[in-house]
Parts: sequence; structure tokens; C-alpha cells
Amino acid sequence: MLKLKEIVIGTYNNNKKTEIRKILSGIPVRLLDLDDFENPPDVIEDGVTFEDNATKKALELAGFCQMCVMADDSGLEIDALDKRPGVLSSRYCGEDTGYEEKCLRLLEELKGVPFEKRTARFRCAIALAEPDRLRFVVSASCEGIISNEPKGNNGFGYDPIFYVPEHELTMAELGSEVKNRISHRALALRLFNERLKELT
Ligand code: IMP
Repeated sequence: MLKLKEIVIGTYNNNKKTEIRKILSGIPVRLLDLDDFENPPDVIEDGVTFEDNATKKALELAGFCQMCVMADDSGLEIDALDKRPGVLSSRYCGEDTGYEEKCLRLLEELKGVPFEKRTARFRCAIALAEPDRLRFVVSASCEGIISNEPKGNNGFGYDPIFYVPEHELTMAELGSEVKNRISHRALALRLFNERLKELT
């Protein structure tokens, strides 16, 4: 393979894109995103695992862009809910339902569940693909507890109800500087970076 000089960030989620760009800001590769392409396809995420979905997104988008594409699939697993919403995190209560409502609905489902049984984790898988082949997939997770009420205005998605015991704050109360060091995405991007070094 030729030395890798450019990668397309294969996500439509602006929050994810911002985090990825910030965390990867020092790498010697130019990062493009899907806004640089006309009518990129909406990939159907029908995999059973985060790794399946990240791989599918990366391969389909790499075929479309005819470039190397990285794709992230991530979500929240709650132990007391048999690991739901999991790969369906963005579709929980319907794709068009806002996150304030999604968070409240999860808290409602967990009503009466004691603190020690509210364990959860954010998971993130990131795949890198060329148009005709998958290069690699890395994954990581970040452990936490689902709080009793939403708190904080930073971050996105389920961050306001994800309490990080080590910092005694929800992910949405932590600033982006801390989140981008400890999150599932930050940890997966660190592994991604290591693998990328072999290709640049
Ligand atoms: P997808 O990977 O685009 O299928 O969607 C992942 C979904 O998981 C997001 O829309 C959020 O609901 C949730 N999620 C993923 N990463 C985070 C995060 O860092 N904070 C909060 N929610 C997240």
C-alpha cells in the first residue's frame, strides 16, 4: 500500500467529528469529512456488534469516496437493562426523539435500581478501510454508573446521565479536555493512532 496521506472521517455526527478531529489533531495525515463529498450514502447499521457496524460503515463509505475512511460506531450499554440500548443507542425511543427525552426514558426504566446496580459503559469501535478492504478495527470502553438525574451541559448524547466515579461528575459535567482523555472514543483513538503509525 502507498503511504497513507489522507483519511475521511466517515460520520454524520458533528459531535463525534469534533471529538475525533481534536484527539487526532497531531497526526501526520490530512483529515477530510463527508461534507467534502456530494450525497454520501446513509449506511444501514444492522450489525450485532459495534465492530460489525464500524466495519460496514468504513467499507461502504470508502467504496463511495474511493479513499481511505475511518468510521466510529459507539453506544451505551447498561447492565441492568441487559446491555441495552447498545448498538441501538441512537435509535432508542426512535431516531427523531431528542437526547433529553432519551435520557429521561432510560432513567425511568432504571427507577428503583440501586446505585451499585446501575453500572454501564460507553463502547466505541473504529474501523479503517480502503475501498476494497478493511485495514483494521480497534475498540475500547469507558466504565461508569447511570446517575439518578441528568447533569451538565457539555458533550452530547447520553453524557448527562453517565457518572464517572473517578471524577465524581457526569461526562457532561467534565470539560471536553478531560472527556477527550478518558472517553471510550479517546481510548479507541489512541489504539487507532498506534495502528495508523504502521501505515504512515
Ligand atoms: P452511532 O455510532 O452513530 O450509531 O450512534 C452512537 C450513539 O451512541 C450516539 O448517537 C449517542 O447516542 C451514543 N453515544 C456515542 N458516543 C457517545 C458519547 O461520547 N457520549 C454520549 N453518547 C454517546
